[in-house]
Amino acid sequence: MIEVNNLVKRYGNHLAVDHLSFQVEPGKIYGFLGPNGAGKSTTMNIMTGYIAPTEGTVTINGYDIVKDPEEAKKCIGYLPEIPPLYQEMTVKEYLKFVAELKKIKGKKRENRISEVMEMTMITEVSERLIRNLSKGYKQRVGLAQAILGYPEVIILDEPTVGLDPKQIIEIRELIKKLSEKHTIILSSHILSEVQAVCDEIMIISKGKLVACDTPEGLTSLKNGSATLEVHILGEAEKAERVIQTIPGVMHYTMCESHEKGCVKAVIETDAKEDIRVELFYALANEKMPILSMNRLEKSLEDIFLELTGDDGKETDDQMKSEEEKIMQKQTESHAQEGDDINESNL
Ligand code: ADP
Ligand code: MG
Repeated sequence: MIEVNNLVKRYGNHLAVDHLSFQVEPGKIYGFLGPNGAGKSTTMNIMTGYIAPTEGTVTINGYDIVKDPEEAKKCIGYLPEIPPLYQEMTVKEYLKFVAELKKIKGKKRENRISEVMEMTMITEVSERLIRNLSKGYKQRVGLAQAILGYPEVIILDEPTVGLDPKQIIEIRELIKKLSEKHTIILSSHILSEVQAVCDEIMIISKGKLVACDTPEGLTSLKNGSATLEVHILGEAEKAERVIQTIPGVMHYTMCESHEKGCVKAVIETDAKEDIRVELFYALANEKMPILSMNRLEKSLEDIFLELTGDDGKETDDQMKSEEEKIMQKQTESHAQEGDDINESNL
């Protein structure tokens, strides 16, 4: 449905997108996951025809986004990081305006606007000025404009950023509902976010695609080690000799145990191997009782940090783009002063 081929975006000397290739199949929810500055928005802006790539191609249902933008764009609805809303229009006026741009006319237009307002649950605010809506409702209006033109694919850039927990849950539910009829690609820098809604996760780091798999696939199958923590009653050296005989052990360390006469072994195995039963019998054979045994699987979080090399310290680039974003948001919120009316006042 979507084919991204060797996509490159250069800003001066800086490679924001670095030879990115992937495919999107219909009917799934895809998540672009990566730290700030990874290149998620840039990729989405290229895929939706907002900016041109330096190199590479994007085809949507066979239409090239650069050579055949009109046909390609018909297949996509886009909600950019900062929704393109006109603050001084009412919700309904704005959706009429978007419908005109998308060349939806007459009776069909009225029906379609009512339909998307129902779907995104904004019918009750249809006569209100956009500037007076809460952020959660603005985001729903953004979603409504994205789905208005009957797109097969909806692309959402950080759709829950800046929302409160209740609004986040509502938008998530809405995204899941939309996924019944649309293929969805969303981006986020928050792991739990993509884990909660996505069927496929693409991890992007420094403009490169570093992994693409299901959430389960990423945690267990691919990047694989699991750690076993075992408290064994007996001498360290003897325990070590037993551990060495077990197939599937990749690495181990013997540590002091807080319990008297005990040793703690931290054993690393391939994630697909489970050595617990064998270890039990081998130690029992040597009359070395196991007092406790814990299997710690790598979390998706560990894998994400490993793959993106994100050690919690921000790079200059990330800081820069964060600063830019904060400044942008400040300018935005100045433009929307008196914007604090929330749902309870509707
Ligand atoms: P993300 O959405 O993953 O946070 P972006 O796609 O916004 O990342 O940015 C990727 C990189 O490209 C960042 O280092 C950012 O500073 C840089 N960048 C983005 N837009 C521009 C621009 N218009 N000019 C120069 N650099 C840019
Ligand atoms: Mg972004």
